[in-house]
Amino acid sequence: MDSLTPHPDGRTLVTESTPRTPEAPYTTNNAGIPVESDEHSLTVSPDGPILLQDHYLIEKMAQFNRERVPERVVHAKGAGAYGFFEVTNDVSQFTKADLFQPGRRTEMLARFSTVAGEQGSPDTWRDPRGFALKFYTEHGNYDMVGNNTPIFFVRDPQKFQDFIRSQKRHPATGLRDNEMQWDFWTLSPESAHMVTWLMGDRGIPKTYRFMNGYSSHTYMWVNGGGERFWVKYHFKTDQGVDFLTQADADELAGTDGDRHRRDLYESIASGNAPSWTLYMQIMPFEDAPDYRFNPFDLTKVWPHGDYPLIEVGRMTLNRNPEDYFIHIEQAAFEPSNLVPGIGPSPDKMLLGRLFSYPDTHRYRIGPNYAQLPPNRPHSAVSSYAKDGPMRYTPSSTAVPYAPNSFGGPAADVSRFGEIAGWASAGEMVREAYRPHREDDDWGQAGTQVREVLDDAARDRLVSNVSGHLLQGVSRPVLDRAFQYWRNIDKTIGDRIASKVNGG
Ligand code: NDP
Repeated sequence: MDSLTPHPDGRTLVTESTPRTPEAPYTTNNAGIPVESDEHSLTVSPDGPILLQDHYLIEKMAQFNRERVPERVVHAKGAGAYGFFEVTNDVSQFTKADLFQPGRRTEMLARFSTVAGEQGSPDTWRDPRGFALKFYTEHGNYDMVGNNTPIFFVRDPQKFQDFIRSQKRHPATGLRDNEMQWDFWTLSPESAHMVTWLMGDRGIPKTYRFMNGYSSHTYMWVNGGGERFWVKYHFKTDQGVDFLTQADADELAGTDGDRHRRDLYESIASGNAPSWTLYMQIMPFEDAPDYRFNPFDLTKVWPHGDYPLIEVGRMTLNRNPEDYFIHIEQAAFEPSNLVPGIGPSPDKMLLGRLFSYPDTHRYRIGPNYAQLPPNRPHSAVSSYAKDGPMRYTPSSTAVPYAPNSFGGPAADVSRFGEIAGWASAGEMVREAYRPHREDDDWGQAGTQVREVLDDAARDRLVSNVSGHLLQGVSRPVLDRAFQYWRNIDKTIGDRIASKVNGG
């Protein structure tokens, strides 16, 4: 047997001259029955009609027609890998969550993605990147479904669908449409911080290995004594943050549209396992009402000077999926997968996502998606759920109801009855968050432009924004965009206006 250069995925080319032996693998249909031919349909004479009894041909055509599941409505194009998370620092005073206890090592799955592009879109479009993690803990799956950005464009789930539609394709033309993007952004000033981030260098990472991941949302941690804390997660890349210029990204979009997926796969296949160090920002529970920014507003960061980063551990991705569709396309991450010791916060976007993620999985890959290989917990499942399409593991309980007299599982309130929650009372309203002392839509974006970026990064920001505005954005949206940037920073706004107006 001749073998040529081995592929990173382990396949080996076998030459056509390989002799067939009785031990060689043979093709079967899906029921395991040997098939008569891989090449010829069953016909009446060589030129005659195809026969309906060619059940193998029919199986092939029918299976092929059903090969795709609906693509994710956002985050459709991605890449992922398995790995592990190791705790390197004792944070048990802040959380009792199993995976964060000293000495723990937890198996995990990560999926990175672009947001607005479809399955076949280039990896190097300017876009936020998804940073979705699933930890297979002793108390079930814990999912941290974050982004490579510490913030987001909107702060209320009522606006999420509108926001995404403005970033996707125009219904009449079927084209991405910069005017829709700027129209929505300039009418939604809370987007300013995130748009500043997106139009800067980090808006196109060099590859998935060279970007940070953030929970973006605030979550709650609860320790063994029942004490509560507000927390934010920061996964900092150990490869170092690196980015592509707009020009490099545009070129790669035409020459290697799968660059980021390829980079992750090949890096892991060659033994170069990427890793990220997890740091937390931890806010005492009582600080929230009087903090200078609303700590639950997804468009704001907590400045590091107020709540410094505390190291927790490291995640390493060292195992490629053996089948992309099974393990990555069918991976289902959901912010509602919160294990004991971790809870949600009053962040309205997070509360909306607790519903929308499991809902989209039930639609996309079916109600029994939790039984699929990437989603199956490594700990025991003793749920009373039963039946439904594609269910293939038997019910784990003797009778399908609780309470019962047949020794079925019962919720252990003494161990797991604690609710990670907060007090809430008041009239039902439809209103924005109550503003805190320093809350406004422009301030943190302005800080980023003036204090985080250097001169060269500011030049690239002006070039990226003006280049984007010059592609199909007309007045009055254009004028609103200039004012939007002047609100962030007068000088940057003037520079953008001058560049777009041909100055
Ligand atoms: P710091 O000086 O402590 O933090 C600034 C942070 O900005 C850096 O630590 C880095 O985040 C991030 N950063 C560096 N270069 C870029 C870039 N080109 N684009 C986007 N982010 C970049 O100041 P503060 O904590 O007071 O924050 C100041 C501003 O920095 C904020 O208004 C916000 O815009 C931005 N920022 C803040 C973060 C936070 O959680 N406090 C996180 C990220 C950005 P990192 O260390 O995560 O790589």
